[in-house]
Amino acid sequence: MTHEHKKISKIRRWFRLVFAPRHSGVCRVCGCTEKDPCFNPEYGNCWWVDRDLTLCSHCADPKIFQDPATVHRINSSGGKRLQLVLTYKWWHMIHSGEKPEEYREITPYWICRIFNKLDQEGNPQPISQKEAAKLAETWSANLDTRGLVLKYNLVTLYAGYDKNRKEETRYIERVTIGTGRVEWGAESGRSYIILKLGGHV
Ligand SMILES: [Zn+2]
Ligand SMILES: [Zn+2]
Repeated sequence: MTHEHKKISKIRRWFRLVFAPRHSGVCRVCGCTEKDPCFNPEYGNCWWVDRDLTLCSHCADPKIFQDPATVHRINSSGGKRLQLVLTYKWWHMIHSGEKPEEYREITPYWICRIFNKLDQEGNPQPISQKEAAKLAETWSANLDTRGLVLKYNLVTLYAGYDKNRKEETRYIERVTIGTGRVEWGAESGRSYIILKLGGHV
C-alpha cells in the first residue's frame, strides 16, 4: 500500500462512517459481516461497536484500520493465505489438535515467502533474496522481527498432493524462531521458523 493509497482509504473510511447507508449486520465502512469478518493478528476477529450492528471494531478504531496487518472481509477477500502441503501424518496431528505449530526451515526461500519488511513509512514491501540470505545467516535462537511483518494471516494446510486431499484453514496466531519438538517433526537442536496455529476459519 503506498502512502497515497493510505490517505485515500482514510478519507473513504471517514466518508462511509458519516454517509454510507446503514444495514444491520453489515459494516458500513468495509462491508464485513459475522460470517465474513475482519482479522488483525493482535486483536483477532472484528466485533460490532454500535448497537445497530453497522460498524465493526476494525473500522471504528483508526489504529487497527491503518495497521497493514489488518485484513477486512477475510473470507471474501481471499484472506492473505499461505498454502502449505504436509504429509498426511503431520496434517492429521494438526487436524486432531495434537500438534499446534508447523515448522519451516530458516532459508531465504521461506523468509521471503512468509515475511514482508516495513519501509520508512510503515508500508509492507517484499524482502529481496539478498536481504533474506542475510537474515537467514543472522537469525539464531532469537528472532528479531523488528521491521518485519507477516504476509499472511491465514494458512491453508493440505494433506499431501492428492486430488481429493483434505485441507483446513487456520489463523496464524504468531510466528517465532526457535527449536521445535521432535515428536512434531522438528530435528533436535535445530532452529526453525515456527508458525503457531490459531483457531479454525
Ligand atoms: Zn468494518
Ligand atoms: Zn470488520
